[in-house]
Amino acid sequence: MADVHADGGPLLHVPDDLTIEQFILYEQHPVKPRWYDQRPVLIDEETEREVGSDELRARTHGLANALKLRWNIGHDDVACIFSPNHIDYVVALWAVQKLGGIVSTANPAYTAEELVYQLRLIKARILIVHPWVLPVALEAARTYGITPDRIILFDPVAGLSFDNIQDLVKLGLGQVQQFTPLRLSPGDAKKKLALLSFSSGTTGKPKAVMITHYSIIANLVQIVQYLDLNNESVPIERKMYRPGSVSLAIVPFYHAYGMHMLLFGNMVLKSTIVVSAKFSLERMLRSIQQYRVTHLCIVPPQVLLLCKSPMVKNYDLSSVYFLMSGAAPLSAELQEQLVRTLPDCIIGQGYGMTEIATGVTHIPHDRKVATPGSAGVLLPGFVARVVKPDGSLAGYNEPGELHLNTPSRSLGYLDNPAATAETYYDGWIRTGDEVILTARKELFIIDRIKELLKVRGFQVAPSELEGHLLDHPDVADVCVVGIPDDFSGELPFAFVVLAQGAQARVQGDPHERTRTKEMLLKHVAEHKTAYKRLAGIEFVDAIPKNPSGKLLRRVLRERARAMVARG
Ligand code: AMP
Repeated sequence: MADVHADGGPLLHVPDDLTIEQFILYEQHPVKPRWYDQRPVLIDEETEREVGSDELRARTHGLANALKLRWNIGHDDVACIFSPNHIDYVVALWAVQKLGGIVSTANPAYTAEELVYQLRLIKARILIVHPWVLPVALEAARTYGITPDRIILFDPVAGLSFDNIQDLVKLGLGQVQQFTPLRLSPGDAKKKLALLSFSSGTTGKPKAVMITHYSIIANLVQIVQYLDLNNESVPIERKMYRPGSVSLAIVPFYHAYGMHMLLFGNMVLKSTIVVSAKFSLERMLRSIQQYRVTHLCIVPPQVLLLCKSPMVKNYDLSSVYFLMSGAAPLSAELQEQLVRTLPDCIIGQGYGMTEIATGVTHIPHDRKVATPGSAGVLLPGFVARVVKPDGSLAGYNEPGELHLNTPSRSLGYLDNPAATAETYYDGWIRTGDEVILTARKELFIIDRIKELLKVRGFQVAPSELEGHLLDHPDVADVCVVGIPDDFSGELPFAFVVLAQGAQARVQGDPHERTRTKEMLLKHVAEHKTAYKRLAGIEFVDAIPKNPSGKLLRRVLRERARAMVARG
């Protein structure tokens, strides 16, 4: 085909009449591993509480019944989950979806302002909250206009009268069924929204990505078909997943990597999931040893810690046989260090994007360790174009922007046709990533063309920080770019044009100049979550723009990088 660069091969049938819960917990599919596994589906890292599939089904049913009884949650009602990883995360998610509702997950590190932004966009009816982040949720709920009786806690807290999932499950299980579970007719799963996940896409502020049940199921089929676990000609010790596997869930479930790949993916793959609410290297190492963890899906800063910390040698990590890094680039050097740290392990990267829901590539089958710097090979059902700046198609090993066509793609951004049109066209999605694709369908990400920054794997939208800085009276114009950072990958850095008054104030007064910078850094730090904080500010006379007024980010990005290189 003339307009297609490469594809990941044909995809098996993807059911279009199932919900995610039905596909994972109830339906058989030829890609699912055929082996029997009686191990628990989930284990709470802290309490060691185990949940099996029967209990998962029952808890989901009980909570759905209670949500119907108490709040009459029904079709297209939106619930926001604001929580770190919790053993009942998936119960909350599926209970809402069982009633026909939609779930939007929020980063538990958000400030109240950031949460309000999300609640307003999605028009949330209820909030499901971890007790740790209740104060932020309460402040956000007040501003947004949701009453405390619409806040549900994951666990009871002594002295607080909020409803909680533990009691609601019991309530729902003790009452006759009050709801008709969502059933989809053929084709409906392609339209029925399951999730509103947040991403800033190629440009602008964070937006709600409309993800259907079918998108998720398609991606699960893509991944599990690729793994080819039922192929009896491959010896079990060469398979990427084997009976009795255990995955550690430290990547947050609110993000597509944590929810689709780790939570849903490992459930389909019959891998027990150890649910970790809070990351620390020591805790991770302890859990690997305690639970004999076989699979680690982590982000590059965690890989760095694993490679550099002397603590690592005090733990037995011999159970780990698969390690995937995703969500941000992993350098070839770091991958090589990782191979030295875990010499017997399958190692490589996965590349994904929320709008694609989610995984695009996987670690190659034919090598134990992926080519250094490689972001993996295309999954079945993906068709890729690599487009050069002049719009023509690049050849193999030639750089260009990656465009993808896949049954897993989302429908667009909620209530935002303009942004949707910039990223989605004729069944294709512009990724905003500059890549090279090889004839072996292996992908190398060489740069990010889109505005988005990735700080420790978390999305940071420059325009969100620019909008916030522009609210400050001292700022006349601003451009935020990423500067490289060894641990975080990159950090936000602002070029600021001061308003006239402020400019006169700092002129010839280095003291005042420093004070103004500190004030602006604080202005961001006080309102935004920690990973969005600015690494620095540079005052400039003007922000370079093209004749139509568009920011020339690349110019400032190069300038920032040069400044960092000079130290
Ligand atoms: P998100 O929607 O938050 O998952 O962010 C998607 C973006 O993260 C992609 O478009 C890439 O820019 C970046 N990304 C994800 N995985 C990788 C990877 N393995 N290597 C480089 N960049 C990545």
